Amino acid sequence: MTAEIVAVGSEMLTAGRLDTNSLFITEHLNSLGIEVTAKHVIGDDNGRLVTAIRRALADADILILSGGLGPTEDDLTRDAVAEALGCQMLADAETLHAIEQRFRTMKREMPAINRRQAMVLEGAEILRNDKGTAPGQWRVVDEKSGKVVVMLPGPPSELKSMFTRECLPRLAAIAPPTAIHTAVLRVTGISESQLDQTIAPIYLNRANLATTVLAHDGDLQVRFRAQCATLDAAIALTEEVAARAAEALGEHVYSRLDEPLEVVIGNRLAAANSTLVVAESATGGGLAQRITGVAGSSAYFIGGYVTYSKKMKTDVLGVPAALLEEFGAVSKETAQAMAEGARLAARADWAISITGNAGPSTDGSEAPVGTVYIGVAGPGNPIEITVTHRMWPVNDRGRVRAFAVQSALDLLNRRLIAHGLLSA
Ligand code: AMP
Ligand code: MG
Repeated sequence: MTAEIVAVGSEMLTAGRLDTNSLFITEHLNSLGIEVTAKHVIGDDNGRLVTAIRRALADADILILSGGLGPTEDDLTRDAVAEALGCQMLADAETLHAIEQRFRTMKREMPAINRRQAMVLEGAEILRNDKGTAPGQWRVVDEKSGKVVVMLPGPPSELKSMFTRECLPRLAAIAPPTAIHTAVLRVTGISESQLDQTIAPIYLNRANLATTVLAHDGDLQVRFRAQCATLDAAIALTEEVAARAAEALGEHVYSRLDEPLEVVIGNRLAAANSTLVVAESATGGGLAQRITGVAGSSAYFIGGYVTYSKKMKTDVLGVPAALLEEFGAVSKETAQAMAEGARLAARADWAISITGNAGPSTDGSEAPVGTVYIGVAGPGNPIEITVTHRMWPVNDRGRVRAFAVQSALDLLNRRLIAHGLLSA
């Protein structure tokens, strides 16, 4: 179910006044599952109002107007709605009586112009105004479409009171029952545009479904949010779309339970009673930081070496000095030797190494900025070692380091899966 809101009043087309009523109305409509598809500010001009009302009613199920219900010549909302719908207006005896009564208590003569406020559309229900004079109106446009036009007074205190007392119950009665369910895919090892290209055919043009893709330093989240008549229907829709998207994305999906990559890895290691050590150069402890951000990581994480200098790579991890001389610190061979050395030194089941150049400057012999080698050493005889080379074309030290950590976790996770380690 959709709604449009029209704020009536020329003052809101100046720099000095803002339409705030629509914010209040929108919040409540959304809570009933009614989507606001457009809102407009229209000046006090009959022709423009009639056009705006007709357009809004062609598109939306509900049109809510605020303002322009006062007694003066520039209060045109009632007349414009009557003209747009092609219906008559009648003086409502009870409202007229109430207005006369007000003037009587103030001991003043009622100006004839105030009669305007008692005019209601034929067939409209009157919405009582307990904070002012002008009543609101609720008018079903026609029984077949069930579309509704609602007129509310402009002053925010009057509008809020009337909306809460008179409109919310009526809206709740016509709003279809709704339930919301969200399914999340956590994805890595693929770019945002590759991801969207892969799954767009699955989620596009699906009724009741809103899909968002969030990307942060190589970590992607796809959120499928369904709004349906029942919770079962919302779950069925999100699960169907998420399952198809997960199939299309294959191994790039690391969690369907909305868990971060380091949690998924932690679950696998803990369930298998396996241990992990890390050896970091370019990321300076960033990998250990991600891993230890998980409560309970002490069950599987032994610790990390931050071996920034060549000397420390040799002294602590046993990377041969000759190897560092021959291939350089940022090389496949060094990443491999670091992972192997860390695994042996810490007596861990698994080891990850990262060596790279995060920039901003290349110091001559070293690999170009953005070059990173990641090694994973795992159990087996001989030790099984996987090394990947990554190159990020961004001259941004922070991002290269964050991407490197993400890739290292991704590589380890894939190795754990290949070894049959399940995420509990
Ligand atoms: P009206 O009913 O058009 O005579 O409006 C009466 C007063 O209500 C205006 O002078 C504004 O101060 C206020 N008002 C009208 N419309 C809005 C709106 N959409 N948002 C906030 N204030 C409004
Ligand atoms: Mg006005």
